[in-house]
Amino acid sequence: MNLGYTAEEERFRQELRTWLAKTLPTLPPKPNPLDWPARRAYDLGWQRTLYDAGYGELHWGATPTQHLIFLEETERAGAPYVGANFVGLLHAGPTIAAEGTPEQRQRWLPPILRGEEVWCQGFSEPEAGSDLAALRTRAVRDGAGAGAGAGAGDYIVTGTKIWTSHAEVADWCELLVRTDPTVPKHRGITWLAMPMDAPGVTIRPLRTLAGSTEFAELLLDEVRIPVSHRIGEENDGWRVTMVTLSFERGTAFVGEVIACQRVLRELAETARRNGRWDDAVLRRRLGRLHAEFRALWRLTQWNVSEAEAAERGVPGVGGSVFKLRYSHARQDLYDTAAAVLGPESLDLSHAWTLDRLSSLSYTIAAGTSQIQQNIVAERILGLPKGR
Ligand SMILES: Cc1cc2nc3c(=O)[nH]c(=O)nc-3n(C[C@H](O)[C@H](O)[C@H](O)COP(=O)(O)OP(=O)(O)OC[C@H]3O[C@@H](n4cnc5c(N)ncnc54)[C@H](O)[C@@H]3O)c2cc1C
Repeated sequence: MNLGYTAEEERFRQELRTWLAKTLPTLPPKPNPLDWPARRAYDLGWQRTLYDAGYGELHWGATPTQHLIFLEETERAGAPYVGANFVGLLHAGPTIAAEGTPEQRQRWLPPILRGEEVWCQGFSEPEAGSDLAALRTRAVRDGAGAGAGAGAGDYIVTGTKIWTSHAEVADWCELLVRTDPTVPKHRGITWLAMPMDAPGVTIRPLRTLAGSTEFAELLLDEVRIPVSHRIGEENDGWRVTMVTLSFERGTAFVGEVIACQRVLRELAETARRNGRWDDAVLRRRLGRLHAEFRALWRLTQWNVSEAEAAERGVPGVGGSVFKLRYSHARQDLYDTAAAVLGPESLDLSHAWTLDRLSSLSYTIAAGTSQIQQNIVAERILGLPKGR
């Protein structure tokens, strides 16, 4: 385990820092956070800027440590967040990089890196969230090669997906389907790349507490997806899904820890200005959060160090510890922001108010806290499985 940085990595950090200082002042103003088409354009534009400068590939072309340095420096400099590119850059892309064929990598990875295509995640269903393997969206083979292992022909997909983030602005969906209903539930699942403009895909936006239509319900009615869009083998989708989830929980949120540390500093400054700093209970709360986010960053470094040593750089189960602690710390941070702001915290135009509302979802999205606790208990602590 190595938690430090080499001289070469520090050089990389310095160059990136210099580039960020020069580039960030030239960016257009950030769009309204509730306007997803505008956010798509902005987020893709930022990815393109990174790509043109040679930083577009850091999410999977570089070492996990370089990725970490990239996250540290971009967050510290206040660079744009990955936004609509979250799924493509942080888990669909890395999954295709780890599990796809050379042709599939060539088809899907460059457009993500160049900021040309947005991905979404079609995993959850109305009756299959925590128990993801209970999914019922079915896919049957049609055309040449049907029933055989060949890559020709189509899957015809019918079912419903829910809570699909960024569906409204996505070009592709990492989709889980049931290809064999006769075997135990984990063994009959397949991972497909679905074009969002395929006939038979209906997107019904869902409105969040904050008024955003950032996620949607997907109705899939006999959607044809070429067999060549399958990542991994037919019925081996659960194993591929574990790769996707290990990126989603292991590395996708880590950059946000630094953003939270920045918010924490701003909270302390605001409290000093508005007189709330005199409240010893509040000060203790801010101090505890400071320790919590520092610990989370050390945990991140440990996870990254482990991933670097692992085959193909796929993060391990430690991501569940991170996800569990981080999602609660983030909620605590924005509850503390409300305590610092007082009545002002009810003003929806305040960024911290929107962040507070969205922080409620962090203990649910990407696997609930209870599920992460089960994973930690069973796979890290070796406790017996629940019934
Ligand atoms: C903001 C947000 C964005 C999301 N984006 C996406 C997306 O882009 N794509 C996608 O596919 N999904 C997405 N989701 C869905 C998310 O993955 C699911 O909501 C989550 O997996 C929980 O599933 P569920 O809602 O069906 O709850 P349920 O599975 O019904 O769980 C209800 C409660 O029961 C608990 N529970 C269930 N089983 C167990 C168990 N075995 N042990 C202990 N407790 C248990 C859960 O922890 C939870 O508290 C998103 C969710 C949110 C909130």
